[in-house]
Amino acid sequence: MLNLFLPNQHVKSIFDIKPAELTEKGIKGIITDLDNTLVAWNQPEATPEITEWFNQMKEHHIKVTIVSNNNQERVQFFCEPLSAPFIFRARKPLRRAFRKATKKMGLKNDEVVVIGDQLMTDIFGGNVAGLYTILVVPILQTDGKLTRLNRKIERYILRQLRKKGKITWEE
Ligand SMILES: [Mg+2]
Repeated sequence: MLNLFLPNQHVKSIFDIKPAELTEKGIKGIITDLDNTLVAWNQPEATPEITEWFNQMKEHHIKVTIVSNNNQERVQFFCEPLSAPFIFRARKPLRRAFRKATKKMGLKNDEVVVIGDQLMTDIFGGNVAGLYTILVVPILQTDGKLTRLNRKIERYILRQLRKKGKITWEE
């Protein structure tokens, strides 16, 4: 059970994820979280760096779908300028949105990676859906109201994983 909270990979930020490396692994699609993964949870628009990251992925023919538990207003406002497909109120960690995004991209499970900053939703959900998972460090240390309880549980899970020697990265 605890292993389902363990990401396949851990990076500092989304910018450490390079299209060439994904292509090498046979990855053709990305399901990414929005809040505190792409931008701070309280920032409405993409930064120029994020826009550039999306462009790079497009150039390498890697599809990106944004899957967020946040509401339509937030997710649509962010995604439309990027022309990025999205799913709002995704109810991660439930599998449904991960499945839907994978299917919409026309890809198989082993061609998709899930990127996110939360163990409870992004990583657990991605793992349960049978996808490769990449944990990023949250952009802000603060969170929206709904995330605060998840973070408490997350800290407990992280302690357990560390105790068992399953985590090798530093906080
Ligand atoms: Mg997040």
